[in-house]
Amino acid sequence: MVTPASQGALAELALALRAHVEYQRELGVTGYPPAPVPAAPAPAAPAPDRRAAPVDLAPRDLFTAPGLAATGSLEGLRGHIGDCQRCKLAPHRTHIVFGVGNANARLVFVGEAPGRDEDRQGEPFVGRAGQLLTEIITRGMRLRREDVYIANVIKCRPPENRNPEPDEVASCEPFLLRQLELIGPEVIVALGKFAAQTLLRTKTPITQLRGRWYDYHGIRLMPTFHPAYLLRNPGDKRLVWEDIQQVMRELGIGASRS
Ligand code: URA
Repeated sequence: MVTPASQGALAELALALRAHVEYQRELGVTGYPPAPVPAAPAPAAPAPDRRAAPVDLAPRDLFTAPGLAATGSLEGLRGHIGDCQRCKLAPHRTHIVFGVGNANARLVFVGEAPGRDEDRQGEPFVGRAGQLLTEIITRGMRLRREDVYIANVIKCRPPENRNPEPDEVASCEPFLLRQLELIGPEVIVALGKFAAQTLLRTKTPITQLRGRWYDYHGIRLMPTFHPAYLLRNPGDKRLVWEDIQQVMRELGIGASRS
């Protein structure tokens, strides 16, 4: 008999199943293998097998994705990426923007994707937003750009600077993860909504994420506003400075400024 209680349990189960399927889709899973068919006597005239090709659903640790785990240095990883054609951004780019800075940095900044200037020059954060990031590093933190490492979630410029799409993230993010594993920083600063939400696998708004510590594969991660956002909302520089001061305390480096 269907009781209100069992209906409630069913609804909960359906919600949980839906959340699971959506999460799997975000990871790039596009189908499930069929359930094993119990052994049965062979039919006289076997019907053609219409089952979908099985999909490898074994849990994947992106840090040890095949091929990537064999890259032992940033140069090796860059070589592995090669003239990448793995996603639909390839035909639009001028340069792959791999990342720049100290290969042993204690601090890594991660942005969204290259813009027009970065695509032209092949280096992350060199446009107007990049100048502001450089100021935060040099004037705020009293470090040099070469002391830290700077990269993006996506290594090719999306046309017209549109938001990167899930299949593009799925193709590119493993490279960022390997980059981080090779550098081994103590702290990551995720710049803006896209980087923070992608790395933390959340849809929580950046206004709620920023200013707090998170764990990212054993690395401390601080989300803060993107410098491009600060160009439009200079009043929020104060909040970014608060976040950066937390980072400096974590790294044991002195605050100066303003
Ligand atoms: N914005 C980003 O997120 N990354 C860049 O490299 C430049 C602008």
